[in-house]
Amino acid sequence: MRQASVEAATARDTAAALMCDLQFAAADELLRGAAQQARAADDAAGLYLILQARAEMLRGQEQRVEAVPVFLEAVAACRRAQGSADELGRLEASIAFTLVNIGLPDEATEHAAAALELSESMTRLDERVRALNAVALTNTRLGHFSSARSLYSQIVREGRVARGGGGATAGERGRAMINLGVCLNDEARTLEPDDPRRGRLLRRQIRCNRAALTAPLRPGNGLAALLNTTDALVMLARLDDASQQLAALERPLQDCADTELRAFATGLAARISMGRGDCDTAATLFTRAIAQFDAVDSQDEVPMLLEALSQAEEARGHLPAALAAERRASAMQRARAKALAETRLRVLEARYERELARRSAEAQRTMEARVEQQRAQLNAQTEALSHAARTDPLTGLGNRRVLEEVATVLGAPSGVPFSVALIDVDHFKHINDRFSHGVGDRVLRAIADVLRENCRPTDVATRYGGEEFVVVLPGMARDVAERVCERLRGRIEDFDWASIGEGIRATVSIGLSGDVCPADLTAVLARADGCLYAAKNAGRNRVRTDER
Ligand code: GH3
Ligand code: MG
Ligand code: MG
Repeated sequence: MRQASVEAATARDTAAALMCDLQFAAADELLRGAAQQARAADDAAGLYLILQARAEMLRGQEQRVEAVPVFLEAVAACRRAQGSADELGRLEASIAFTLVNIGLPDEATEHAAAALELSESMTRLDERVRALNAVALTNTRLGHFSSARSLYSQIVREGRVARGGGGATAGERGRAMINLGVCLNDEARTLEPDDPRRGRLLRRQIRCNRAALTAPLRPGNGLAALLNTTDALVMLARLDDASQQLAALERPLQDCADTELRAFATGLAARISMGRGDCDTAATLFTRAIAQFDAVDSQDEVPMLLEALSQAEEARGHLPAALAAERRASAMQRARAKALAETRLRVLEARYERELARRSAEAQRTMEARVEQQRAQLNAQTEALSHAARTDPLTGLGNRRVLEEVATVLGAPSGVPFSVALIDVDHFKHINDRFSHGVGDRVLRAIADVLRENCRPTDVATRYGGEEFVVVLPGMARDVAERVCERLRGRIEDFDWASIGEGIRATVSIGLSGDVCPADLTAVLARADGCLYAAKNAGRNRVRTDER
């Protein structure tokens, strides 16, 4: 995972402190602002930290639908920040849990699958077990009971291996055992009462719940396991056992802060009464259980209880009450179906937006890469063009343009003094005429090579025109420059001209303008040209200098 910015980490910590003080609205506002900043700063690691905190907070606040898009964006940020399998797996599992809990197991599948894949490379056992739990729960809700069962067994096995290796893992293992019980119970409910598999599943559920009680459990989970056992006993019509079990739970239930568990227990008591044919007590208890669930705005169990209440009322001849219960049950089911459809739509929208964002980010990256590629091409072309524009194709020396650039640099204030040599081939026309233009070209190239080889790296040799060359000698005084020119002249005279053609001989005359500073190139060249003229007049193959 890349490093998150300090701002993002601070925002996350401040929000956590606010949450501890139960200031959720303030924490939410803070996290929203921080997320906006992290997005603007393209701080993927920071965005992940913030969104993860916000999504978990929303989920904890039962705002599950709101949590989904936040989780989705958190996963995207986590991937961009190269988050670990543990971090990504935790998020994917959270999304799967959340979607299952809002009644959208189909939508959870994709995330459960991602969690399962990531679980292979997760290093933290508690996170791995949690991810597997999310997958198994999704499978249970989708009715894929056998794969859910085998996953739970795997979790229990792994949890056993890790026994003593941290309370978190142990807690997940206990939860897996309880969930396995729920999975068996869910499957039993899909079967007809006279199906022999139903009894087997319920008995296995009871064994499983008992085993869960021997594992370390989170608060409330033990009570849930015992109530689930009671539920299985009721379904098996073992009413006396169920009633005994429930009676034993009376005290712990009174001490329990979880109203839903108490409401669930009341519902069980109602079903026991109903099973015994005591419809009056059953109706009273069903009504109480419904009120208890209503009090905490928990709706999952209520339609089922209303159906049961309707049956109890009908059995004891209270037809209007039976009808009212029936009506509320179907109204609730309709409302739930509608809410579920809306939620599904919102989740779809969140996914669609995420996909759009992913695509536009991708398109942006492709575009940037293309622009970068074009820029590089253009740079290379410009480079090549400017090289071509500044190079004499015949000799490879710089041309007049280079000379102008050098003059601009040297002529700048506080410029260094320099000397300029104008070199002209003697009787070149004669060489061309006698040996051919091609040979003339080779002579020019040979002279260029001599100039290149006999100049310092700081000197600039250029081809000025047809058979004329200019050498700029920065920082070189006239007398030194004169010796250099003499050496150049000598090297050209002594060149092995026979290597080019039998009978060829080439010499140069050089006019030198020395110690010029600051300089106007045209004036300097005019002076050098004057010296060159003098050299030609004096018989050629010699150097002449100004102001001797
Ligand atoms: P001088 O000693 O007085 O300089 O005599 P010169 O013959 O060298 O002088 P002139 O200016 O009369 O002739 C220069 C010749 O250089 C004329 C031209 O055809 C030839 N020339 C110019 N550019 C090139 C070139 O690129 N290749 C060849 N082979 N010849 C060229
Ligand atoms: Mg000439
Ligand atoms: Mg010439």
